[in-house]
Amino acid sequence: MSTESGASTLPARGPQPGPAGVPDDIRTAILARRRFLLTSHSRPDGDSIGSQLAMAFALDALGKEVRIVNADRAPDHYQDFPGMERIEIASTVTTDADAVIVMECSDLNRTGVSGLGDRFLINIDHHTGNSHYGTLNWYDESAAACGEMVFDLVRALGVPLSVEIATHIYLAILTDTGSFHHSSITPRTFDICRQTVEAGVNPAAMARRVFDSNSFGKLKLIGALLDSMELADGGRLAILRMDDHMLKACSCTHNDTEGLINLPLTAREIQAVVFFKIAPDGEVRVSMRSKYDVNVRTVAAEFGGGGHKNAAGFTVTGRLDDVRGHIIDRLVAAIAEGLQSRPNA
Ligand code: 5GP
Ligand code: MN
Repeated sequence: MSTESGASTLPARGPQPGPAGVPDDIRTAILARRRFLLTSHSRPDGDSIGSQLAMAFALDALGKEVRIVNADRAPDHYQDFPGMERIEIASTVTTDADAVIVMECSDLNRTGVSGLGDRFLINIDHHTGNSHYGTLNWYDESAAACGEMVFDLVRALGVPLSVEIATHIYLAILTDTGSFHHSSITPRTFDICRQTVEAGVNPAAMARRVFDSNSFGKLKLIGALLDSMELADGGRLAILRMDDHMLKACSCTHNDTEGLINLPLTAREIQAVVFFKIAPDGEVRVSMRSKYDVNVRTVAAEFGGGGHKNAAGFTVTGRLDDVRGHIIDRLVAAIAEGLQSRPNA
């Protein structure tokens, strides 16, 4: 690529970790058991949905019994994906499953589902700071999506890559990399995607289904949200705020807010975004996104949350006004730190 294209100023990437092997105790535990309950985190995203359903279809192929329980319904644009009707919504379960597989959760309480703690628990996750709550724990921070780990596991179990499994693996990767924007992407990511496309996934159709299926109300919400956006740190930090009043005015619900946080990052100067979502009961969810080496996970961790370098979140305990300034100060510091390692940003 020529220098005029600006490619020479893109930050370089160091050596990337290879795929971690699937632990044999997990493979044999799954093969030896018959009845499974699958779950993932509350307020499911594409990685939690994709990881669970890919796993469910793989377990079907092995002749296992599978039940899937989630605390919350997934956003509408996921509802047409294969197997979605199998997901039960409940905040507590009674189960005598031989094993519970928890995916995408750094802690068991991230599931929002109670009644799982006394079962044989298999913990499969890629979040920094996983608390190893399982009977068996498989944790791979180098995976760009939990779906990458599920892909390796499906292969290790000897299950052929059906189009349903491939679709869910691709969905997990497409969404958890922020549609191939995050710095967590490795050659392994593309190698897995290549295999899913060979198995029948249509990347153009997937992108349209996930990102271009907004309602008119959501377009209105985008306008209202960007109209009220504030900038800080000389335009490097965008601050978004949304409450029920704004949602109602646009005929939207909280499920329509997925992906909106990425909009400010399309401005070249903006290095990070913080999005305050205020629920009717006053609970404030904070989502953050960033570019390159700006680490929002460390900011989230300081406030009791977690996530990844470029995508993290937490719930405010107490009043937003009491912590808002502190959150913004920490983000400004994270931007300064991240930009230090990017001379040509
Ligand atoms: P989102 O902003 O989409 O809710 O979350 C972005 C990332 O941060 C996801 O990987 C999600 O699992 C993680 N995350 C969001 N909120 C929390 C939280 O309250 N606790 C922890 N540990 N992780 C969170
Ligand atoms: Mn994930």
